[in-house]
Amino acid sequence: MKTITFHGEDALPAIGQGTWYMGENAALRNQEVTALQAGLDLGLKVIDTAEMYAEGGAEQIVGEALRGRRDQAWLVSKVYPWNAGEMDAVEACERSLRRLQTDYLDLYLLHWRGDVPLEETIRAMESLQQQGKIRHWGVSNFDRDDMLELWNEPGGNACLTNQVLYHLASRGIEYDLLPESQQRAMPIMAYCPLAQAGRLRQSLFEDAKLQQIAQQKGISVAQLMLAWVIRQQGVLAIPKASSIAHVQQNAAALNIQLNNDELAIIDRAFPAPQHKTALDVV
Ligand code: NDP
Repeated sequence: MKTITFHGEDALPAIGQGTWYMGENAALRNQEVTALQAGLDLGLKVIDTAEMYAEGGAEQIVGEALRGRRDQAWLVSKVYPWNAGEMDAVEACERSLRRLQTDYLDLYLLHWRGDVPLEETIRAMESLQQQGKIRHWGVSNFDRDDMLELWNEPGGNACLTNQVLYHLASRGIEYDLLPESQQRAMPIMAYCPLAQAGRLRQSLFEDAKLQQIAQQKGISVAQLMLAWVIRQQGVLAIPKASSIAHVQQNAAALNIQLNNDELAIIDRAFPAPQHKTALDVV
Protein backbone atom coordinates (compact mmCIF):
# COMPACT_ATOMS: atom_id res chain seq x y z
CA MET A 1 0.00 0.00 0.00
CA LYS A 2 1.30 3.44 -0.95
CA THR A 3 1.87 5.69 2.06
CA ILE A 4 3.21 9.16 2.74
CA THR A 5 4.91 10.56 5.80
CA PHE A 6 4.44 14.11 7.00
CA HIS A 7 7.36 15.38 9.04
CA GLY A 8 7.35 13.79 12.49
CA GLU A 9 4.20 11.72 11.84
CA ASP A 10 3.50 8.03 11.36
CA ALA A 11 3.04 6.90 7.74
CA LEU A 12 -0.47 7.58 6.36
CA PRO A 13 -2.23 5.90 3.41
CA ALA A 14 -1.54 8.11 0.36
CA ILE A 15 -5.26 8.39 -0.45
CA GLY A 16 -7.65 10.21 1.86
CA GLN A 17 -11.16 11.61 1.54
CA GLY A 18 -12.32 15.04 0.40
CA THR A 19 -15.61 16.64 1.46
CA TRP A 20 -16.30 19.60 -0.84
CA TYR A 21 -20.04 19.74 -1.64
CA MET A 22 -20.90 17.48 1.29
CA GLY A 23 -23.43 18.96 3.68
CA GLU A 24 -25.20 20.94 0.95
CA ASN A 25 -28.23 18.70 0.62
CA ALA A 26 -30.02 17.34 3.70
CA ALA A 27 -31.36 14.39 1.69
CA LEU A 28 -27.79 13.16 1.07
CA ARG A 29 -26.63 13.55 4.68
CA ASN A 30 -26.82 9.87 5.70
CA GLN A 31 -25.23 8.73 2.47
CA GLU A 32 -22.31 11.13 2.93
CA VAL A 33 -21.76 10.11 6.57
CA THR A 34 -21.86 6.44 5.58
CA ALA A 35 -19.41 6.97 2.71
CA LEU A 36 -16.90 8.68 5.00
CA GLN A 37 -17.28 5.90 7.57
CA ALA A 38 -16.76 3.26 4.86
CA GLY A 39 -13.55 5.06 3.90
CA LEU A 40 -12.37 5.00 7.50
CA ASP A 41 -13.19 1.27 7.69
CA LEU A 42 -10.95 0.79 4.65
CA GLY A 43 -8.15 2.75 6.30
CA LEU A 44 -8.51 6.07 4.43
CA LYS A 45 -7.44 8.02 7.51
CA VAL A 46 -6.98 11.49 6.10
CA ILE A 47 -10.23 13.46 5.93
CA ASP A 48 -10.07 16.90 4.36
CA THR A 49 -12.68 19.55 5.02
CA ALA A 50 -12.95 23.34 5.38
CA GLU A 51 -15.07 25.99 7.07
CA MET A 52 -15.96 27.06 3.52
CA TYR A 53 -17.62 23.80 2.43
CA ALA A 54 -21.38 24.27 2.76
CA GLU A 55 -20.44 27.09 5.18
CA GLY A 56 -19.66 24.60 7.92
CA GLY A 57 -22.11 21.94 6.73
CA ALA A 58 -19.35 19.61 5.53
CA GLU A 59 -17.58 19.86 8.89
CA GLN A 60 -20.83 18.79 10.55
CA ILE A 61 -21.04 15.72 8.29
CA VAL A 62 -17.45 14.83 9.18
CA GLY A 63 -18.20 15.33 12.89
CA GLU A 64 -21.08 12.90 12.61
CA ALA A 65 -18.97 10.35 10.72
CA LEU A 66 -16.24 10.55 13.37
CA ARG A 67 -18.48 10.16 16.40
CA GLY A 68 -16.84 7.58 18.68
CA ARG A 69 -13.90 7.05 16.32
CA ARG A 70 -12.06 10.36 16.17
CA ASP A 71 -8.73 8.58 16.80
CA GLN A 72 -9.09 6.61 13.55
CA ALA A 73 -8.87 9.75 11.43
CA TRP A 74 -6.19 12.28 10.58
CA LEU A 75 -8.34 15.35 10.35
CA VAL A 76 -7.66 18.41 8.20
CA SER A 77 -9.67 21.63 8.02
CA LYS A 78 -9.04 25.03 6.48
CA VAL A 79 -9.46 28.63 7.47
CA TYR A 80 -10.76 31.33 5.12
CA PRO A 81 -7.99 33.85 4.30
CA TRP A 82 -10.01 36.67 5.91
CA ASN A 83 -10.19 34.66 9.14
CA ALA A 84 -6.44 34.01 9.21
CA GLY A 85 -5.49 36.95 11.45
CA GLU A 86 -4.20 36.40 14.96
CA MET A 87 -7.55 36.67 16.86
CA ASP A 88 -9.90 35.65 14.05
CA ALA A 89 -8.06 32.38 13.37
CA VAL A 90 -8.52 31.19 16.94
CA GLU A 91 -12.25 31.90 16.79
CA ALA A 92 -12.61 30.31 13.33
CA CYS A 93 -10.77 27.23 14.52
CA GLU A 94 -12.95 26.95 17.62
CA ARG A 95 -16.08 27.13 15.42
CA SER A 96 -14.67 24.36 13.20
CA LEU A 97 -13.86 22.21 16.24
CA ARG A 98 -17.42 22.59 17.55
CA ARG A 99 -18.91 21.56 14.19
CA LEU A 100 -16.47 18.64 13.97
CA GLN A 101 -17.27 17.61 17.57
CA THR A 102 -13.60 17.29 18.42
CA ASP A 103 -11.06 19.20 20.48
CA TYR A 104 -8.18 19.12 18.02
CA LEU A 105 -7.30 19.09 14.32
CA ASP A 106 -4.33 17.15 13.03
CA LEU A 107 -3.75 19.83 10.42
CA TYR A 108 -5.11 23.34 9.86
CA LEU A 109 -4.55 24.96 6.46
CA LEU A 110 -4.76 28.53 5.24
CA HIS A 111 -7.23 27.91 2.38
CA TRP A 112 -5.62 30.40 0.01
CA ARG A 113 -3.48 33.47 0.36
CA GLY A 114 -5.36 36.66 1.21
CA ASP A 115 -4.54 40.06 2.67
CA VAL A 116 -3.45 38.98 6.15
CA PRO A 117 0.38 39.06 6.29
CA LEU A 118 1.90 35.57 6.32
CA GLU A 119 3.81 36.48 9.45
CA GLU A 120 0.54 37.10 11.32
CA THR A 121 -1.00 33.82 10.13
CA ILE A 122 2.09 31.92 11.27
CA ARG A 123 1.74 33.51 14.75
CA ALA A 124 -1.94 32.52 14.79
CA MET A 125 -1.11 28.93 13.84
CA GLU A 126 1.62 28.77 16.49
CA SER A 127 -0.79 30.04 19.11
CA LEU A 128 -3.39 27.41 18.12
CA GLN A 129 -0.68 24.76 18.42
CA GLN A 130 0.29 25.99 21.88
CA GLN A 131 -3.36 25.77 22.94
CA GLY A 132 -3.48 22.16 21.68
CA LYS A 133 -6.24 22.98 19.16
CA ILE A 134 -4.17 22.00 16.15
CA ARG A 135 -1.23 19.61 15.88
CA HIS A 136 0.21 21.00 12.64
CA TRP A 137 -0.45 23.79 10.17
CA GLY A 138 0.02 24.26 6.45
CA VAL A 139 -1.22 26.20 3.42
CA SER A 140 -3.21 25.66 0.25
CA ASN A 141 -3.07 27.11 -3.28
CA PHE A 142 0.45 28.49 -2.75
CA ASP A 143 2.65 28.63 -5.86
CA ARG A 144 6.44 28.34 -5.62
CA ASP A 145 7.03 32.07 -5.03
CA ASP A 146 4.47 32.10 -2.21
CA MET A 147 6.17 29.06 -0.66
CA LEU A 148 9.61 30.68 -0.90
CA GLU A 149 8.23 33.74 0.86
CA LEU A 150 6.61 31.57 3.53
CA TRP A 151 9.74 29.50 4.13
CA ASN A 152 11.68 32.76 4.61
CA GLU A 153 9.37 33.98 7.38
CA PRO A 154 10.38 33.14 10.97
CA GLY A 155 8.62 29.85 11.79
CA GLY A 156 7.62 29.35 8.13
CA ASN A 157 9.57 26.11 7.84
CA ALA A 158 7.06 24.46 10.16
CA CYS A 159 4.52 24.45 7.29
CA LEU A 160 3.62 20.76 6.98
CA THR A 161 2.14 20.73 3.49
CA ASN A 162 0.72 22.72 0.59
CA GLN A 163 -2.63 21.53 -0.77
CA VAL A 164 -2.85 22.18 -4.52
CA LEU A 165 -4.79 21.11 -7.60
CA TYR A 166 -3.12 18.15 -9.33
CA HIS A 167 -4.37 15.58 -11.79
CA LEU A 168 -3.10 14.11 -15.02
CA ALA A 169 -4.59 16.86 -17.17
CA SER A 170 -3.15 19.59 -14.92
CA ARG A 171 0.53 18.89 -14.30
CA GLY A 172 1.91 22.43 -13.88
CA ILE A 173 3.25 21.77 -10.36
CA GLU A 174 5.68 19.19 -11.77
CA TYR A 175 7.74 22.02 -13.29
CA ASP A 176 8.95 23.66 -10.08
CA LEU A 177 6.59 23.52 -7.09
CA LEU A 178 6.61 19.75 -6.71
CA PRO A 179 10.39 19.22 -7.13
CA GLU A 180 11.07 22.09 -4.71
CA SER A 181 8.68 20.57 -2.16
CA GLN A 182 10.17 17.10 -2.60
CA GLN A 183 13.66 18.49 -2.12
CA ARG A 184 12.52 19.96 1.18
CA ALA A 185 10.78 16.67 2.10
CA MET A 186 7.43 18.49 2.32
CA PRO A 187 4.54 16.32 1.05
CA ILE A 188 1.89 17.81 -1.23
CA MET A 189 -1.84 17.16 -0.86
CA ALA A 190 -3.40 16.81 -4.33
CA TYR A 191 -6.94 18.17 -4.58
CA CYS A 192 -9.32 17.45 -7.50
CA PRO A 193 -7.31 14.29 -8.28
CA LEU A 194 -10.28 13.15 -10.41
CA ALA A 195 -10.51 16.51 -12.17
CA GLN A 196 -13.86 17.21 -10.51
CA ALA A 197 -14.78 20.10 -12.82
CA GLY A 198 -17.67 18.46 -14.71
CA ARG A 199 -16.98 18.25 -18.43
CA LEU A 200 -13.22 17.81 -18.02
CA ARG A 201 -13.67 14.80 -15.77
CA GLN A 202 -16.17 13.26 -18.18
CA SER A 203 -13.81 13.70 -21.12
CA LEU A 204 -10.96 12.11 -19.14
CA PHE A 205 -13.17 9.21 -18.08
CA GLU A 206 -13.98 8.73 -21.78
CA ASP A 207 -10.42 9.12 -23.04
CA ALA A 208 -9.58 6.12 -25.26
CA LYS A 209 -5.99 5.71 -24.05
CA LEU A 210 -6.89 5.92 -20.39
CA GLN A 211 -9.77 3.51 -20.94
CA GLN A 212 -7.46 1.06 -22.69
CA ILE A 213 -4.88 1.04 -19.90
CA ALA A 214 -7.61 0.78 -17.26
CA GLN A 215 -9.30 -2.08 -19.09
CA GLN A 216 -6.04 -4.01 -19.42
CA LYS A 217 -5.41 -3.63 -15.70
CA GLY A 218 -8.99 -4.47 -14.74
CA ILE A 219 -9.48 -1.10 -13.02
CA SER A 220 -11.57 2.02 -13.65
CA VAL A 221 -10.22 5.23 -15.20
CA ALA A 222 -10.82 6.94 -11.84
CA GLN A 223 -8.56 4.39 -10.15
CA LEU A 224 -5.96 4.88 -12.86
CA MET A 225 -6.06 8.64 -12.26
CA LEU A 226 -5.59 8.18 -8.52
CA ALA A 227 -2.77 5.65 -8.90
CA TRP A 228 -1.12 8.13 -11.29
CA VAL A 229 -1.37 11.04 -8.80
CA ILE A 230 0.18 9.06 -5.95
CA ARG A 231 2.91 7.49 -8.12
CA GLN A 232 5.17 10.36 -7.05
CA GLN A 233 7.05 10.40 -3.78
CA GLY A 234 5.32 12.54 -1.15
CA VAL A 235 1.96 13.10 -2.86
CA LEU A 236 -1.33 12.40 -1.09
CA ALA A 237 -4.61 12.42 -3.07
CA ILE A 238 -7.91 13.40 -1.45
CA PRO A 239 -10.73 12.35 -3.81
CA LYS A 240 -14.23 13.17 -2.67
CA ALA A 241 -16.69 10.32 -2.93
CA SER A 242 -20.21 10.15 -1.61
CA SER A 243 -20.98 6.59 -2.63
CA ILE A 244 -19.59 3.47 -0.99
CA ALA A 245 -18.77 1.97 -4.41
CA HIS A 246 -16.58 4.97 -5.22
CA VAL A 247 -14.92 4.88 -1.79
CA GLN A 248 -14.09 1.19 -2.25
CA GLN A 249 -12.58 1.84 -5.66
CA ASN A 250 -10.56 4.75 -4.34
CA ALA A 251 -9.18 2.74 -1.42
CA ALA A 252 -8.20 -0.10 -3.77
CA ALA A 253 -6.19 2.39 -5.84
CA LEU A 254 -3.65 2.49 -2.99
CA ASN A 255 -2.36 -0.86 -4.23
CA ILE A 256 -2.30 -0.16 -7.97
CA GLN A 257 1.15 0.18 -9.54
CA LEU A 258 1.67 1.68 -13.00
CA ASN A 259 4.53 0.33 -15.05
CA ASN A 260 6.90 2.39 -17.22
CA ASP A 261 5.04 1.57 -20.44
CA GLU A 262 1.74 2.73 -18.96
CA LEU A 263 3.33 5.90 -17.59
CA ALA A 264 4.90 6.62 -20.99
CA ILE A 265 1.52 6.34 -22.75
CA ILE A 266 0.02 8.74 -20.20
CA ASP A 267 2.97 11.13 -20.64
CA ARG A 268 2.44 11.23 -24.39
CA ALA A 269 -1.28 11.91 -24.04
CA PHE A 270 -0.94 14.33 -21.10
CA PRO A 271 2.57 15.78 -21.32
CA ALA A 272 4.54 17.04 -18.37
CA PRO A 273 5.05 20.86 -18.38
CA GLN A 274 8.06 22.24 -20.28
CA HIS A 275 7.82 25.75 -18.82
CA LYS A 276 6.37 27.58 -15.86
CA THR A 277 2.61 28.06 -15.78
CA ALA A 278 0.56 29.81 -13.10
CA LEU A 279 -0.74 27.47 -10.43
CA ASP A 280 -4.05 25.95 -11.46
CA VAL A 281 -6.88 26.54 -8.99
CA VAL A 282 -10.61 25.79 -8.96
P1 NDP B 1 -12.45 15.16 -7.15
O1 NDP B 1 -11.47 15.28 -8.25
O2 NDP B 1 -12.10 14.40 -5.93
O3 NDP B 1 -13.80 14.61 -7.78
C1 NDP B 1 -14.94 14.37 -7.01
C2 NDP B 1 -15.98 13.75 -7.94
O4 NDP B 1 -15.51 12.47 -8.38
C3 NDP B 1 -17.31 13.52 -7.26
O5 NDP B 1 -18.29 13.88 -8.21
C4 NDP B 1 -17.34 12.02 -7.01
O6 NDP B 1 -18.62 11.48 -7.12
C5 NDP B 1 -16.49 11.48 -8.15
N1 NDP B 1 -15.82 10.22 -7.80
C6 NDP B 1 -15.17 9.92 -6.65
N2 NDP B 1 -14.65 8.68 -6.71
C7 NDP B 1 -14.98 8.19 -7.93
C8 NDP B 1 -14.75 6.96 -8.58
N3 NDP B 1 -14.04 5.98 -8.00
N4 NDP B 1 -15.26 6.78 -9.84
C9 NDP B 1 -15.98 7.77 -10.43
N5 NDP B 1 -16.22 8.96 -9.87
C10 NDP B 1 -15.73 9.17 -8.62
O7 NDP B 1 -12.85 16.67 -6.81
P2 NDP B 1 -12.97 17.57 -5.54
O8 NDP B 1 -13.12 18.96 -6.02
O9 NDP B 1 -14.01 17.09 -4.60
O10 NDP B 1 -11.53 17.48 -4.85
C11 NDP B 1 -11.25 16.57 -3.81
C12 NDP B 1 -11.18 17.27 -2.47
O11 NDP B 1 -10.10 18.20 -2.43
C13 NDP B 1 -12.40 18.13 -2.13
O12 NDP B 1 -13.54 17.37 -1.79
C14 NDP B 1 -11.84 18.99 -1.04
O13 NDP B 1 -11.78 18.28 0.18
C15 NDP B 1 -10.44 19.28 -1.59
N6 NDP B 1 -10.37 20.53 -2.38
C16 NDP B 1 -9.56 21.54 -1.91
C17 NDP B 1 -9.47 22.74 -2.59
C18 NDP B 1 -8.61 23.83 -2.05
O14 NDP B 1 -8.70 24.97 -2.53
N7 NDP B 1 -7.74 23.54 -1.10
C19 NDP B 1 -10.23 22.99 -3.84
C20 NDP B 1 -11.00 21.84 -4.28
C21 NDP B 1 -11.04 20.68 -3.57
P3 NDP B 1 -19.54 11.06 -5.85
O15 NDP B 1 -19.46 12.17 -4.87
O16 NDP B 1 -20.86 10.85 -6.47
O17 NDP B 1 -18.98 9.78 -5.29
